[in-house]
Amino acid sequence: MVSEVGFGGIPIINIGMEDAVSLLRHCFELGITLFDTANMYGDSEKKMGAAFESVRDRVVLASKTLERDAEGAASHLDLSLENLKTGRLDVYQLHQVANRKTLDEVMAPGGAYEALEKAKSDGKIRFIGLSSHNTQIAIEACRTGRFDTVQIPFNFIEKDALESLFPVAAEMDMGIIGMKPLAGGVLDRADLCFGFLQQYPMVVPIPGMKARDEADEIAGLYASPQGLTAERQEKIEEIRSELGTKFCRRCEYCMPCQQEIHIPTALGMQAFVKRLPPLATIALNDENMKKADTCIECGECAEKCPYELPIPDLIKENLSLYREYVKKHS
Ligand code: SF4
Ligand code: SF4
Repeated sequence: MVSEVGFGGIPIINIGMEDAVSLLRHCFELGITLFDTANMYGDSEKKMGAAFESVRDRVVLASKTLERDAEGAASHLDLSLENLKTGRLDVYQLHQVANRKTLDEVMAPGGAYEALEKAKSDGKIRFIGLSSHNTQIAIEACRTGRFDTVQIPFNFIEKDALESLFPVAAEMDMGIIGMKPLAGGVLDRADLCFGFLQQYPMVVPIPGMKARDEADEIAGLYASPQGLTAERQEKIEEIRSELGTKFCRRCEYCMPCQQEIHIPTALGMQAFVKRLPPLATIALNDENMKKADTCIECGECAEKCPYELPIPDLIKENLSLYREYVKKHS
């Protein structure tokens, strides 16, 4: 059992240890009990470890590993336990299981799942989860019956999971964690985002926060839900139709690209620049954006995109945004 709304651990990478600990404790005092982080989120785990050591049994801590084999996942889990200053994690998730190859890899003998299963029987974790941006792969994973939780993007412009994945997760009695309730920073009206999400109480959203006022606003929306008025519904429809033709859902159906461009990453510059510090944004994107510069506009990716996004044009737009950003921060 967790609070109706949780906490996503990416944005605290951007603030110092003292501010992060104070924010996390503030969120805990506001009643938030689910805190989600990942091994790859810089020092996010350490900040949560420092914040919650003294109230460990009153929070639910979830982390993730990107390792795909058992040995790597076991060592990442030990590192997460150390960072989070705990002997047992509540939820440990296989991070970003984006395609069939990855799902097969993690579930194969010697794959990461094996390490998580052993950790569960050894008492190092309570529940095994996975996160993905690909609804179909998440459904396949859920149907194996071997996961306790599933984490997927869910907001009013990314709601494919509602009719496809969520019924399967409910049938398998799994917990559902909704990542990116504000579409990774693309949506900025919290009243609309949480008004929409509050219609689906089986999903626990985990908004990333980096300041007390953000936490207060979200907690306020849960303390006194405002519902979706006709005006808000109208605004949601307007934003949906405006973003529907250019918002990448990171499902990877368009991959692979013959120029080896990681397309969803190349299309996500707006979210990167909003959520991560400049050094991390550049370190994570530079190689891929150099590849994006080699796009030959073959159009194969656009043919595979179920949302009919004009991918080559969007790559150019994101490339130009990235170049401006690098110029500004170099
Ligand atoms: S471009 Fe389309 S197919 Fe590719 S990841 Fe984005 S939404 Fe999915
Ligand atoms: S259009 Fe560009 S991004 Fe798309 S598959 Fe071709 S080279 Fe890759």
